[in-house]
Order: sequence, then C-alpha cells, then structure tokens
Amino acid sequence: MDTIEKFNSHVMGSYGRYDLVLDKGEGEQAVDENGKEYIDFGSGIGTNSLGYCNKDWADAVCEQVRSIQHTSNYYYTKVQADFAEGLAKVTGMENMFFCNSGAEANECAIKIARKYSFDKYGKGRHNIITLVNSFHGRTMATLSATGQDVFHNYFFPFVEGFIYVNANDIEDLKAKCDDTVCAVMFEYVQGEGGVMTLDKEFVDSIFDICESKDILTISDEVQTGVGRTGKFLAGEHYGKKADIITLAKGIAGGIPMGACLAGEKCKNVLTPGTHGSTFGGNPIACAGGLAVLKYAGNDEFLAEVTKKGEYIKEKLLAMDEVQSVSGLGLMIGIELKTKQAKDVVKNALDKGLLLLTAKEKVRLLPPLTITYEEIDKGLGIINELLS
Ligand SMILES: *Cc1c(COP(=O)(O)O)cnc(C)c1O
Repeated sequence: MDTIEKFNSHVMGSYGRYDLVLDKGEGEQAVDENGKEYIDFGSGIGTNSLGYCNKDWADAVCEQVRSIQHTSNYYYTKVQADFAEGLAKVTGMENMFFCNSGAEANECAIKIARKYSFDKYGKGRHNIITLVNSFHGRTMATLSATGQDVFHNYFFPFVEGFIYVNANDIEDLKAKCDDTVCAVMFEYVQGEGGVMTLDKEFVDSIFDICESKDILTISDEVQTGVGRTGKFLAGEHYGKKADIITLAKGIAGGIPMGACLAGEKCKNVLTPGTHGSTFGGNPIACAGGLAVLKYAGNDEFLAEVTKKGEYIKEKLLAMDEVQSVSGLGLMIGIELKTKQAKDVVKNALDKGLLLLTAKEKVRLLPPLTITYEEIDKGLGIINELLS
C-alpha cells in the first residue's frame, strides 16, 4: 500500500489534503517522497519559522532530547526557566503559562479573563467579545469564540458567553461593551479570515473602552506573533500591549507549543489547581523556542523580515492578475482579479511551490529566514501561474 492509501484508510478525514507526501526539508525547500523539491511559502502555516532543520534549532533540540525530553509540571526544568525569561524579555510580559497549541493558549486566556472578573466582581461578568471573521481555534470554547458562522455547526451546544462585534466597527464595539463583558479578544491581522488588518482607530477604541471599564484585552497573536509581521508582536505596530497575549504556531520552530502571556493585571489569576497541561512547557519545545528567540528576538533580523515583506508585496503588485495585497511583514494575503486562489495553490504544487489560501485569497507565510534567491524563485512561479 502506498503512503496516501495507508494514511487515508486509518487517519480520519478531517482535512482536505493535497496528494503530496513530504519526506524532508532543508532551509526553505521541502522535498517529497520522489525527491522533487518545493519552495515553501507556507512553512506549515507559519510554524517552521526558521525553515526546515535550521542548524542552530536542530542542534538545540537534539541536545535537549539527549538530556531530558519531558518531566511533569510537578518539577522545574532549567530550559523552561530560560525560555520563559527570554520570552518575557522580548515581549515585556512577565508572566506566562505554557501549553501545546494556539487553541490551548486561547483557552487559557479565556479562563484567565473569566476568573479575573469573577475574583473581582463576582458572577455575571463572563462575556467575551470577539470579532466577526476571527479565528481562535478548534476546541469547543475557541470554536465558540471564533466569529464565523461556518464554524458554528454540527457540534451544538456551543460554549456560551461570546458576543461578536464587526471588525473595525467602533459603534458596534461601544454598544456591546456593557457590564456583562470581561474581555475583548482579537487578532491584529485576521489570518484565517483572509489576512485582514485591523484599523488603527479601531484598535485604539478597543484599548480606550477596555481601560475605562476594567475590561481585559486579549490579543490572539498565534499567527501574527514571534516576528511574523516584522515586529516580535504585531501589537507593536499599533503601540499597544494587551493584558493577555497568546502565541503558538512559530514559537518553537515547528515543535508543538503555545504560550499565554499575562501582564501586571492578570499575573496572579491562575492559582494552584486552576489550570494545567501534561505536556505544557515541554523541554524539547522550550529548547526549540530558545533557538527561535535567537533569531526572532533580534531587531536586525526583524528589520530584514519587514524588508523581505515589502519586497514581496512590491513584486506582487506589479503582476497584472493581482488586485491587492494585504498583511504585515511576512504575513501576506493576495487578492486576485479573475483566478481562484484554490486553483492557483493546487497548480503551484506541479511547479514546485507550496502556498496557502485564506478565504478567497492566496496567503503567504514563508519562513522568516527565507533568502531573496528563494523569494525570487517562488515569485517567478507565482508570476507564471497568474499569467
Ligand atoms: C492557527 C490559529 C489558532 C489555532 O492554533 P492551533 O495551534 O491550531 O490550535 C488560533 N488563533 C489564530 C489566530 C490562529 O491563526
């Protein structure tokens, strides 16, 4: 039986997969089982932030595997302490909880927001405002938080206590921030929602209203965080720091990890027994994370991410078929004039390029370490596909 047949006979069909078996990778190139090479403009949905098997990252991870691969959270490890210290330093968020995915990081944020409010005001102030067109994950609570009707199906009843506000609609936000609300949760750039960037005025309003009513701000930086937008946190583009910030995807360079960061207000909310995760803060993931920080925590590296993003945008806008380009840094959405994004992504495979979609757009999330040579090769293929 070949891999795809074997796979499909045993693994649940919850994904629409392409007929491609990836075997290995090096730098920005993935290699399939037949030895064919692909330039990767998707990095496993923004997760292989340093590309495939970056040497510093692989060395750090391998060394960690050979010393201690896991211990329960009844004990401490040095690598977790080091990673937490590093992450605190680059984000300015002193306190954090480690988990294994974006959805889990958001679950933690939701729990912190509700407990913060319960501890201070008692029952009845549990509602969380999220934005229409948002994406926060696939668990029951994060699916409920996700402001897209297509996700609110089949799995009834959903978790109560989420109120949806139209992105960039200040009046809608004002009207719904009543005294039942404990938090507003948002992505600065809605990734799955089509690489839609929030307006500065809207973000300012979120922070102003929340500040005046002791409502917490939660920025879901699972996709935008860890250098993706050319700043370590996308909030830096807006000059804002939320009370709670969630990270995952690129945080450990391709090892499952999520983090929920808390600022001053929320640092003591989770007390012993109120939250936990068996794998959370796993030493291997932390070692990978430390290697990522060496790159994404460096201002010169981040300036390069910005430059590469601008370079890609400029080249894309020069293509006839491109209607518009959205996003920040190396998180890029491409609106097409006549072609279907999903056809372009499928046809790109034949030509040796991995792309993503986001709603009706083609989406690019290349490794942050991508070289101009690879960028040019990938853009050349996109140009061919769009001609
Ligand atoms: C991917 C994503 C999530 C979910 O992360 P998982 O690791 O798949 O659970 C949550 N929020 C945003 C903004 C994402 O892009």
